Amino acid sequence: MKAIRRFAVRPALPERLAALETLVGNLRWVWHEPTVALFSDMAHGVEDRLARDPAELFASLSQARLDELAADDVFVARVDALRDDLQRYLSEPRWYQGLGESAPTSIAYFSPEYGITAALPQYSGGLGILAGDHLKSASDLGVPLVAVGLFYRSGYFSQSLSADGWQQETYPIVDPDGLPLSVLRHLDGTPVDIVLALPDGRSLNARVWVARVGRVTLLLLDTDVPENDADLCQVTDRLYGGGEEHRLRQELLLGIGGVRAIKQWCDLTGADMPTVFHTNEGHAGFLGLERISDLVGAGLGFAEALEVVRGGEVFTTHTPVPAGIDRFDPELITRYFSTELLPGVESRDVLSLGLESAVDGRPGLFNMAIMGFRLAQRANGVSRLHGEVSRRMFRSLWPGFDENDIPIGSITNGVHPATWTSTPLTDLAERAWGTRDTTSVDWRDHAVSDADLWETKRHLRAELVADARRRVEASWVSQNPGGVVPEWVHGVLDPDVLTIGFARRVPTYKRLTLMLHDEDRLRALLLDPERPIQIVVAGKSHPADDEGKRLIQQLVEFAAEPEVRSRIVFLPDYDMAMAKTLFPGTDVWLNNPLRPLEACGTSGMKAALNGSLNLSVLDGWWAEFADGANGWTIPTAAANLSPEERDRIEAASLYELLEHHIVPSFYDRGESGLPHGWLATMRHSLATLSPELSADRMLRQYVGALYLPAAAAAERLSESSYKPARELAAWKRRVVEAWPRVEISHVESGGLDVTPQVGETLRLRAYVALGGLTPDDVSVELVYGAGSAEGELTDVATLPLQPVDGPSGRGDGETSVVYGGELRLERSGNFGYTVRVVPHHRDVASDVEMGLVAVAR
Ligand SMILES: *Cc1c(COP(=O)(O)O)cnc(C)c1O
Repeated sequence: MKAIRRFAVRPALPERLAALETLVGNLRWVWHEPTVALFSDMAHGVEDRLARDPAELFASLSQARLDELAADDVFVARVDALRDDLQRYLSEPRWYQGLGESAPTSIAYFSPEYGITAALPQYSGGLGILAGDHLKSASDLGVPLVAVGLFYRSGYFSQSLSADGWQQETYPIVDPDGLPLSVLRHLDGTPVDIVLALPDGRSLNARVWVARVGRVTLLLLDTDVPENDADLCQVTDRLYGGGEEHRLRQELLLGIGGVRAIKQWCDLTGADMPTVFHTNEGHAGFLGLERISDLVGAGLGFAEALEVVRGGEVFTTHTPVPAGIDRFDPELITRYFSTELLPGVESRDVLSLGLESAVDGRPGLFNMAIMGFRLAQRANGVSRLHGEVSRRMFRSLWPGFDENDIPIGSITNGVHPATWTSTPLTDLAERAWGTRDTTSVDWRDHAVSDADLWETKRHLRAELVADARRRVEASWVSQNPGGVVPEWVHGVLDPDVLTIGFARRVPTYKRLTLMLHDEDRLRALLLDPERPIQIVVAGKSHPADDEGKRLIQQLVEFAAEPEVRSRIVFLPDYDMAMAKTLFPGTDVWLNNPLRPLEACGTSGMKAALNGSLNLSVLDGWWAEFADGANGWTIPTAAANLSPEERDRIEAASLYELLEHHIVPSFYDRGESGLPHGWLATMRHSLATLSPELSADRMLRQYVGALYLPAAAAAERLSESSYKPARELAAWKRRVVEAWPRVEISHVESGGLDVTPQVGETLRLRAYVALGGLTPDDVSVELVYGAGSAEGELTDVATLPLQPVDGPSGRGDGETSVVYGGELRLERSGNFGYTVRVVPHHRDVASDVEMGLVAVAR
């Protein structure tokens, strides 16, 4: 018989071990090795997986064992000391506290998924892991984040394989009672209830789970509550599943419900209401509308409220793949917003923020990324290259401007070192340099000998091999129920063979099967009698993506060939627990997306922090960090070739690099048996990349470039009962109305010879009609650069021109102002320039923001 419900009964904690409650209750243990070591010792050194899931661990401990531990003075003192250490960590001033009084006291962070630990499976891939790392580094640096997400009953999904290698999905229920989560409650003990009005007159209710991630609070909304009808209980069933309306409900809950949850949490805890709201990807975008609704309730008009909200909002776009952007049927949006859902916000206001323009007469969809940009004064992509690609991709939102004017910056992602660096490597650093911060030491320093470094790497590789054998066996058993596990399964992989890792979600652009392009050439590499390679592959395909599942099947079929099966394995159910063993155990991390579709990619970063070398297409983070000596770059074939041709060319380069560079270097052993050249590359990669790839670096950049300016803007716009916001909204209206009459009537230049030389000065006068605006409302700029034969400017720079004369009448009733300026020519070669007028206001972050420009003709 099957149980209808299952839960773990925890033994009662003896009084003397009360501090354990505190230790388990805060997820900081996830990245605090001494605490995990404590958990492990409690169960006599249980396997790592269990020590990293305290709920399961406690359930597995007998009352007798706990009583025994409580009687052990040394153990009790150790628990108390760790609790004291945690409390110090939670309260002492850290980096952020050194920034001074003007830094905001609360910042909200929104993401649809969070990868904090395998024990809390609320992530599907890169976005979630990144969000988890963002929270952890924020905690370490003392950045006052409060984060919001959804609590998915089944997380993403568990992956297994059918007998013929087809991905199978199961959705195990996550039991929140077994996790370090508590329900947000009113003072009288009743759970806080977040309510959203639905078009059919019903309401969607959610409770709020509170998780402590070090110093950061994470609020997770959960619709599986008795107040909801059965169908509405399912709104937070799983990540990225279900149809369009299901997705919309999730996103309404995340954005609108999320802000409501923060308000309740602030009320109940006395915390300050955030002034900055950071939304990751479009999914949480509705949060801005809830804030507008509040401000309208406080007496502002929609446009005025929009200005306040924009000032404090930061939008990060995470994908250059158009299909990755969330879009909805406008009718669905209209239906949901023509209700009591958001008082003061009309559905047409909502549509005006996110509607795409019509294409070929067909009306556009409602686009969450477009709304994201319109609701945030500051926006960024997640690597330098992704910033460029995003400026190109969203260029049409700011018509008339060049790509490099588009107000989307970039902050390259990072990964949380304490989570992702393996313990043996950290121990090595501590022995040599006395610190566990592996990102701050110079690995090129031979305080760690080649022999020790290599021995550690071999140990990590052996751990991966052991884990892979366990997983291959389990997978074989599930694919062949009732069968007897054949001997070869216990012998897959070899701890002394060059090990290549490839693991990630399996959308087509990541090209899981590029390595199979020439199977014979790959076989030769795998089976080389002297210098073989071995490959460990993992990854989940989205349940609705049959193309991805076919790629997995193709790989699984290849890996099942008796000849190669001990040299290439596919490990089902890629998750954070597998990742922790996988990254450190590899020598080379392979990344071969179709450039430029990998926004950043973080798995290669985690590999690099563990002394694994990157072998990657020049995409995402690698495009800015490859230095020619820290790994290998697979050259990118011309973008105009067919996908098949690109695959062929890039796969050939991949084999070539393996055959002629990577394999020879790995197996080039000196007299001592050590690969000194390889080790030198490892040291260089570890020393130079680790600090750059750390999420601490990323957090500092978010704080400096986005959070502080956003807080200042929000504060300024809210001054004197929102007076600056009201003025800004009125100013924008005036500018939009006047803009059709703004023009540059003509431009005079002088000061140059017929063939000017470097060092000469260009003098300009531009006659500008302001259409009723004043010189204070605009900025007039000389835009110059290298001029191509087609007249396109490249390497563009701007120089502000100053009003030198006027205003004077023009005869047609308009006034015109003369602007002037000088530019010294610094470079030889083709030169081109033009003059443009853009609106300018102190409370607008970028002159480009309104998408208005008048250019000299
Ligand atoms: C790091 C990681 C990812 C994301 O990897 P990308 O290279 O950014 O795609 C996905 N899943 C798990 C389990 C990870 O650890």
